[in-house]
Amino acid sequence: MADFKVNLEDFTNKDYRVIFNSLTKKEPVRLTSSLNMREDYGVDHISSVDIIPHQETDTLYSIGTRIDLGGDTESEKIWQSFLENYQEKYSITGFDKDYKLFYGSNLYTLSFLTDIKRSAYLSTTNNLNLEMLKDNIPPFFEILEDYINTVYDVSEEYIDFSLKPQPTLRTYYYNESNDRMAEEKGSESEKFETISPEQLNVKFDDIGGCEEAKKELDMVAYGIKYPYVFEEYQAEHPHGILLYGSPGTGKTLLAKAVATELETPFIHVHGSDIVSKWYGEAEQNIKEMFEVARSRPHTILFIDEIDSITPAREGSHEATQRIVSTLLDEMDGIKSSDDVILMGATNRPESIDSAFMRPGRFDKKVRVPLPDMEALKQIYSIHLEGKKPEKNIDFEKIASKSEGFSGADVKGVVDLCIKKKISTLRDKLSEKPTKNEVKNLAEPITTQDILNAIEEYQKNLENLRAFGTPGHIPGYI
Ligand code: ATP
Repeated sequence: MADFKVNLEDFTNKDYRVIFNSLTKKEPVRLTSSLNMREDYGVDHISSVDIIPHQETDTLYSIGTRIDLGGDTESEKIWQSFLENYQEKYSITGFDKDYKLFYGSNLYTLSFLTDIKRSAYLSTTNNLNLEMLKDNIPPFFEILEDYINTVYDVSEEYIDFSLKPQPTLRTYYYNESNDRMAEEKGSESEKFETISPEQLNVKFDDIGGCEEAKKELDMVAYGIKYPYVFEEYQAEHPHGILLYGSPGTGKTLLAKAVATELETPFIHVHGSDIVSKWYGEAEQNIKEMFEVARSRPHTILFIDEIDSITPAREGSHEATQRIVSTLLDEMDGIKSSDDVILMGATNRPESIDSAFMRPGRFDKKVRVPLPDMEALKQIYSIHLEGKKPEKNIDFEKIASKSEGFSGADVKGVVDLCIKKKISTLRDKLSEKPTKNEVKNLAEPITTQDILNAIEEYQKNLENLRAFGTPGHIPGYI
């Protein structure tokens, strides 16, 4: 059995792939976790999640979670809770109050559970399908996360467990040719991080304001999904989209929302990296970047600060001219409707070489403005969601005090506000606070808290301005 340590910090793409390989070969896989939680309820930890080929069918896997319980009396209650809540949904094997042993029907569970006291093995056979695994790995992990979280939700408290993948390879879609490429290119493949739509999970509704931009991008996504609608008029959806506007207004978020909407992979590159980190090999890297993007249809290749690789050629350094030409060549090479979608973002559209603006290159230019009052209210509401805001936050008032702020500034204000709330809460708590104590003493975020945070945020920015820090300052467009 392949055994993987689930270390929340560095569960990598490579792990995903090895797991996938084992499963496609119908080998059982065990994810061993070192989670130590719920001691207060007598649960020591989830020690493993096993994925085991089903004994009778080819396509189903059985997944099971082993949970060790502590030895105090609380654990008896948890046994009961397991039985009452989960017996119908999952099969619970090996429960024996006196001996606390497993004797699961499954061969694989038997071999490692005999020395465990007070353990439960919950298993289900109907929610993991090999066909689904073939598509991609992340949904499979979502299922596991869900499963683990369901199991943990045995008592009043809910613990949100996440496998938090940390991709280090270029893609986590299993794809033989990608694998070969990664092997051939060795560590170079780590240059381009491909993010799956499941991981991005940014919806247009998560973005406040930018109504025009959202509408335009929604149309682009529509054209990609239903090319024949465009073909009816012998038109094609644009392959090059330039997002321009002040820093922190949501350009990156919008690009991610398109990828999420289309369920396509997303590669995020910074133009400045292409010219600085990869100095001397920029052209080769640009080519490789497109090659990687082409390995999956409709990959969105998002180049932030694109102006750093698209300056006017006239009078520029020879190396820069070569970069510009390579990028133009690659853009001209985007032909078929399922090819790469290049999205560039810039705060300085005027400095981009006019050649990039010609038809067939950046066909679509989308302005992403600073938020107006209505948009500011929406953005505050988005960033305060789930963060204990009081019921009647005066969005009108906080928006009017935030004139000239970008979405990123709003996020900065909310983060600052939360930091202050936690610091105030900490002063009120005992040295070793219990969760109940925290729940009882944590106060909601009020309008006044946010107004105070806005004032402080503005002061911080003025201090930065006094030091001549470049970058976006509210009111500076
Ligand atoms: P830059 O030009 O500096 O790269 P950007 O326009 O790409 O900035 P983002 O990276 O999309 O801006 O935004 C940074 C963060 O600010 C986002 O992760 C989000 O938390 C917040 N934010 C920005 N704009 C919005 C918005 N319109 N709605 C909600 N949140 C926003």
